[in-house]
Amino acid sequence: MKFPLTAEEEEFRCNIRDFCADNLPSEISEKVVTGVKLSRDDYVEWQRILARGGLLCGAWPAAHGGHDWSPIKAYLFDEECGRAGAPWLLPFGVNYVGPVIHTYGSEEQKARYLPEIASAQTFWCQGYSEPEAGSDLAGLKMRAVRDGDHYIVSGRKIWTTMAHWADRIFCLVRTDPDVRPQAGISFLLVDLRSPGISIRPIMTMDGRHDLNEVLFEDVRVPVADRVGEENGGWTIAKFLLSNERLLVAEIGKQKRLMEAVRSILSGLADGDAPLSADRAVQARIVELETRLLALEWSALRTVRAAATGHPPAAAVSMLKVRGSELEQALTEFAVEIMGPEAMVYAPKMGLGDADPSQVMRNGAMARMLWARCVTIYGGSNEIQRNIIAKSLIGF
Ligand SMILES: Cc1cc2nc3c(=O)[nH]c(=O)nc-3n(C[C@H](O)[C@H](O)[C@H](O)COP(=O)(O)OP(=O)(O)OC[C@H]3O[C@@H](n4cnc5c(N)ncnc54)[C@H](O)[C@@H]3O)c2cc1C
Repeated sequence: MKFPLTAEEEEFRCNIRDFCADNLPSEISEKVVTGVKLSRDDYVEWQRILARGGLLCGAWPAAHGGHDWSPIKAYLFDEECGRAGAPWLLPFGVNYVGPVIHTYGSEEQKARYLPEIASAQTFWCQGYSEPEAGSDLAGLKMRAVRDGDHYIVSGRKIWTTMAHWADRIFCLVRTDPDVRPQAGISFLLVDLRSPGISIRPIMTMDGRHDLNEVLFEDVRVPVADRVGEENGGWTIAKFLLSNERLLVAEIGKQKRLMEAVRSILSGLADGDAPLSADRAVQARIVELETRLLALEWSALRTVRAAATGHPPAAAVSMLKVRGSELEQALTEFAVEIMGPEAMVYAPKMGLGDADPSQVMRNGAMARMLWARCVTIYGGSNEIQRNIIAKSLIGF
């Protein structure tokens, strides 16, 4: 069963597949596939390869150096990269703050920031969440007080992905504490090297350091680096979140994980019989395949219906819920069928000559532990269900 694509879309898909086959460095894809942690250089290298190939900002308007890709082309690009084992395409510059700047930014901001993002010269991170403001984002407290042509910014951001590698952070800050919460927020672009900023690591249960706490103590930020009106940041915040959630179904990655499960299974036995002959295992495989197919069709139908612009929030939330749950189910099943062998955590490099099952077994625990967070980031699944309920039932 194949989702109908136009001839042009099929050709586009093939071009991206060929581009990945010809240009994605094997040392990088091997790390991705086996769950080995990537370095900053790995991420930047892949983004620069895409930028040189004219693909990094394909969904941007032509006026800003993009190709005006339709939502379906952006989806196919994402799927093919994920399937090829490309690194997660860091969305903070290209997909989050870039579109914010070309939609709401001043001409000076566009001229200064967009070319750096489009050529992957700057590494951005996202300063939304705070210790007391995650799901309830409008409750954020980081304070920005006007002092001439600067703001003095103080407060804490938390869970900031890759802040320790980033050059800049975009932040939601409170510029008016005396109005209803959503009405007193502004959107700032901040140089992370500014005096008064310190970054503390947060280690996650899979032993990695991706997350951080970012502390601001009287940091001076030029008013010229505010995007949009003072106290008009909530509209921008919501615009950015809708882009964030659209990317989360990650069909290409799910397909790669499904292939990993099949590959792991192919090398396992139950006594003398292959484990793949077990009826219960077969039933689980069919269930997972069916969920993946349903997710793929739902994602394609959603982006097709959107044609241009954004699909309905409830549809995007549904994809987020189903996509993240499937990622957890696939990675859990891989660990389950491996049994005690899955206890080995640290993925190793250099298994190129080993049989495919062995290569995939190598990173199973890392992938399963990492997937604990996918139902949290980008707005937790409980919040997504609230959005769906509100849209369908009205409360
Ligand atoms: C790996 C990872 C990377 C992240 N990266 C970033 C980043 O780069 N930048 C950034 O700004 N943030 C980032 N976050 C933060 C993320 O956006 C928040 O964790 C998320 O929005 C949830 O907020 P919270 O952690 O404060 O949990 P809380 O909001 O405190 O929620 C706790 C629990 O209560 C539930 N809950 C809360 N409110 C409701 C409600 N109204 N109805 C039902 N259930 C509810 C939640 O679903 C959750 O289970 C990241 C998080 C993770 C895990």
